Amino acid sequence: MADAVSGSNQAPKFAADRMLFRLARWLRLMGADVLCRPELSGAELLQVARAQGRPLLTRDKRLRNAPDVLYIDADLFRDQLRQVLQRYPFDPRRFAFTRCSSCNQLLKRVPREAVVRSVPPFVYAAHEEFAICEQCNRVHWDASHVERVISEIDALTAPRP
Ligand SMILES: [Zn+2]
Repeated sequence: MADAVSGSNQAPKFAADRMLFRLARWLRLMGADVLCRPELSGAELLQVARAQGRPLLTRDKRLRNAPDVLYIDADLFRDQLRQVLQRYPFDPRRFAFTRCSSCNQLLKRVPREAVVRSVPPFVYAAHEEFAICEQCNRVHWDASHVERVISEIDALTAPRP
């Protein structure tokens, strides 16, 4: 674990059903560990989630009264994100840029020189911090994602007029 980004072991964990794909990606950008298993039924996913101590985020009304389940009734992704943060608050500033948004794998920081051939020159020129996902081999860079995430969160948590 020495190479993994530090602090990530305390990031929040969730499981999300297949209806919440976009929400899952955003939670991962914030550093949350989000299990998605689209091949499982809602009840099967709930079983796996419970076994792993993960609250289940679901759009399935039939599960809405189960413990450890957050029924997401909002249709819009920003409202969905707000629902999650109200029930399970965490600080994305602490955990952002630790996890692959596509496959939930922890990112591994790499020296900038290691990605010179893997990213477009303008990206290389504009960013200092790079990390790779060892599962999908995608190269991630910090600033754009993290700033977007943080401004998104600030917008969500700002007091409304
Ligand atoms: Zn990946």
